[in-house]
Amino acid sequence: MLPSFFDSVLQLIVRTSTDLPPDVRAAMKHSLISEPEGTRASQALTIIAQNIDLAADGEGAICQDTGMPTFEVHVPVGANQIWMRQQIREAVQEATKRGKLRPNSVDSITGKNSGDNLGPGTPIIHFDQWERDDIEIKLILKGGGCENTNAQYALPVELPHLGRADRTLDGVKKCILHAVWNAQGKGCSPGAVGVCIGGDRTSGYTHAKEQLFRTLDDVNRDSRLAELEASIMSSVNSLEIGPMGFGGKVTLIGCKVGVLNRLPASFFVSVAYDCWAFRRLGVVLDASSGAIKSWMYRDPSHPIIPMLDQAGFTRTGREIALTSPLTEDAVRALKVGDVVMVSGRMFTGRDAVHSYLMKNPPPVDLNGSVLYHCGPVVVKEGETWRVTAAGPTTSIREEPYQGEIIKRYGVRVVIGKGGMGAKTLAALKEHGAVYLNAIGGAAQFYARAIKKVDGVSLMEFGTPEAMWHLTVEDFPAIVTMDAHGNSLHKDIEQESGAHLEAIGV
Ligand code: SF4
Repeated sequence: MLPSFFDSVLQLIVRTSTDLPPDVRAAMKHSLISEPEGTRASQALTIIAQNIDLAADGEGAICQDTGMPTFEVHVPVGANQIWMRQQIREAVQEATKRGKLRPNSVDSITGKNSGDNLGPGTPIIHFDQWERDDIEIKLILKGGGCENTNAQYALPVELPHLGRADRTLDGVKKCILHAVWNAQGKGCSPGAVGVCIGGDRTSGYTHAKEQLFRTLDDVNRDSRLAELEASIMSSVNSLEIGPMGFGGKVTLIGCKVGVLNRLPASFFVSVAYDCWAFRRLGVVLDASSGAIKSWMYRDPSHPIIPMLDQAGFTRTGREIALTSPLTEDAVRALKVGDVVMVSGRMFTGRDAVHSYLMKNPPPVDLNGSVLYHCGPVVVKEGETWRVTAAGPTTSIREEPYQGEIIKRYGVRVVIGKGGMGAKTLAALKEHGAVYLNAIGGAAQFYARAIKKVDGVSLMEFGTPEAMWHLTVEDFPAIVTMDAHGNSLHKDIEQESGAHLEAIGV
């Protein structure tokens, strides 16, 4: 067998999880200089840039959600795919053990985490044969937040703000714009979209995701699609959804469109949204040893150019310090747009914790507490735990529970990303609490604001879903929903909807 194959795949996984490819870095750098200094968008992008640098320097996961590992493998005729599949699975298991991938594979019925990223359908591995002598493996790690913003349209269809999308390229453009508008900041914008026109429902989504393997500067060989991609890029940023949905000039960093034949009766447009943490790399392997012959999307002989000249959160002097536990007066004094620096005790909680709290009393006193929607990567070192990646997760999933939990247990601050809905907004107002938006994907940046893990509850839910008790210091976030009924998310959605109408496809 190929003695270096396992090691090469492991290197590919580690590098993909920790270092963004140069084309994505260049696009993010361009985004950073496009947003005026001192704006929410600029502050968000500065944190993202710092996070990218920290991840590459320390070989830490760029985002705590290391996503669904998806491998596209090309092999010479006669290669042993059964053996390779097993080796890839073992490399995924090893990368998980080393904390480079978060345990992300859960039983769909019981919710039980397999703990090693292996399970039915995980990881995704597609094989194809080709006439060449070498092996090519491409990997994309796409997280749940952006995966949840994928969209599929069956044309013709009526779309809000855009009218009818017909079975034409203009109709396709409307679908793409609608998907980006609908995603707002929930997929951690600025993102990139892979699109498939046609196919059936399954091949359409697969082909859309495959488009994400094209570099951001790649020009479509089909001139009609090249024109469509350029036209999306020139109009989409006028939506002013901006980084993390905070408003701003940059909403999308790439749009890549493919096409498949379809049945005469069907016309699907499938959109795969990927976040700014656009993790994709590849390797070409020697087919006799499995050793890496070359890397794809990156040139290892070129040094990594840091995103920022100097590290550190750029303070404007207007930041407000918050130390938990918090009083009602302290949170009622906050308003949308305030930048806060949180210190003190913070508890993590996402889907399993929220569902638990609806039926059971909390394992800790949540009065005046800060509840962080986060599924961190945590490693055990002797008897203590260390958080190695800890960005926010998409908050809207907790919308059915959040208001009730605030009311019952006196939570004063909820931190997450992408914002929450009307029920939560009403509860914030009635009970005196705020929602803070942290910067999605900034897992390394926030891990450094966590000074200590003080304990953990509900460990039976698995590492990402457990309730971690953390001590944090100067954890920056932005008030995007306050205790006076204001929501930046609601405002940006309405304003960008008006911009969508103005584009006039
Ligand atoms: S950057 Fe955001 S959307 Fe992307 S994987 Fe991380 S949390 Fe999910």
